[in-house]
Amino acid sequence: MIFNVDKETLPRDELAALQLTRLKNQCERVYANVPFYRKAFDDMGIKPGIVNSLEDLPRLPFTEKQDLRNGYPYKMFAVPIDTIVRLHASSGTTGKSTVVGYTKRDLDNWAELMARSLSAAGLSSSDFIHNAYGYGLFTGGLGVHYGAERLGATVIPISGGGSKRQAELLRDFGATGMTCTPSYALYLYEVAYDMGIDIRELPLRVGVFGAEPWTEEMRAEIERKLGITALNIYGLSEIMGPGVAQECAESKCGMHIFEDHFLPEIIDPVTGASLPPGAVGELVITTLTKEAIPLIRYRTRDLCSLDLTPCVCGRTHARITRILGRSDDMLIIRGVNVFPQQIEAILVEMEGISPHYEIEVKREGTLDALEIMVEFSEAMFQSDEIRHIQKREKSLQKSIKDYLGVTAKVRLVEPQSLKRFEGKASRVRDLRKKE
Ligand code: AMP
Ligand code: ZN
Repeated sequence: MIFNVDKETLPRDELAALQLTRLKNQCERVYANVPFYRKAFDDMGIKPGIVNSLEDLPRLPFTEKQDLRNGYPYKMFAVPIDTIVRLHASSGTTGKSTVVGYTKRDLDNWAELMARSLSAAGLSSSDFIHNAYGYGLFTGGLGVHYGAERLGATVIPISGGGSKRQAELLRDFGATGMTCTPSYALYLYEVAYDMGIDIRELPLRVGVFGAEPWTEEMRAEIERKLGITALNIYGLSEIMGPGVAQECAESKCGMHIFEDHFLPEIIDPVTGASLPPGAVGELVITTLTKEAIPLIRYRTRDLCSLDLTPCVCGRTHARITRILGRSDDMLIIRGVNVFPQQIEAILVEMEGISPHYEIEVKREGTLDALEIMVEFSEAMFQSDEIRHIQKREKSLQKSIKDYLGVTAKVRLVEPQSLKRFEGKASRVRDLRKKE
């Protein structure tokens, strides 16, 4: 179901007109209220009035995560602090956290966009949503929560952690929808399974997963194990939180970015040049309605491409593809660019191993060495196939060499022996950085 038919199916020319009006307004506001932007505009010798069409966007300055850190905690706010009704902070996966604030209207818009997202995933007011995103400074929990309420669904604010209890309540409360990170969904499946609860047999039918990169293969794994439809949701606290973009159940192919609130661009992460639809590059987002922290051309560091082809669901908003990695977590191994997600995609294709893995990159002498530890599945562990471990390790090594062009040492390890993550998984250890 389309939650806001007027806005989500707006003809593209009308959408562009709305975006332009809003963009001009945002430029005026940041120039007048945020010293960082006044300086950035002045340094480039431009005034907000420079924007006469959407094509003028590349003439505006970028905003980086570091700019928000420099403005810690409130210097990027464009409104008086007493109009802020909530604060959140990013999880700080890549350094010191950044603080974000919301006005009443920001929260109202966020709830709407999150309701649009859940609706696009096929959930409605009659659903029970088990929300296992963490409640707190992280935007996931409360973001989904108010969206689910806006939708009129019944939200179960279970938050993260306490997995045994989660499994029990998932069964007892009969949730039909679930929201968490994709890695937690798989973890919860294992916990439930060990308790004799088969999630496949529960009423659960839709999962809305995000906050960390995942792959099509992982989707297939989740759908098979949990017996649900698994959809991708994207968001980041600097821009809002969850609900910036959401996959529709109809296409399951790319996430509609809510373009009446966000203006997306794809750029070359090295040169900053704009890239055309279809080209993979860094996603840059300009907020069009944010009051508390309007951001101009925010560099997300997330790599994806933009798809402007019409979607079967009827929404006119562009889609971003699955996030392929970050322009800042790309591993360069002996000169070859490798994204952890590519390694994962190869691992999960192989039978007999589980999607739990760790990647370690270190320096052996002067050369980079890549080691991948991956758990074999319980089934394989119990069968006598274990004798063939070496063969499997070799075969994985060969696939990685064939697909990615890098030599890796693969080690199959016992089920349950690698670290589990209840929040964002962090599976890469780059020991070279400490040298
Ligand atoms: P945070 O601000 O702490 O919520 O982190 C936001 C970051 O999480 C984004 O910039 C992405 O790198 C990552 N992220 C969020 N949703 C997804 C998703 N669906 N797929 C891949 N990465 C995601
Ligand atoms: Zn669609």
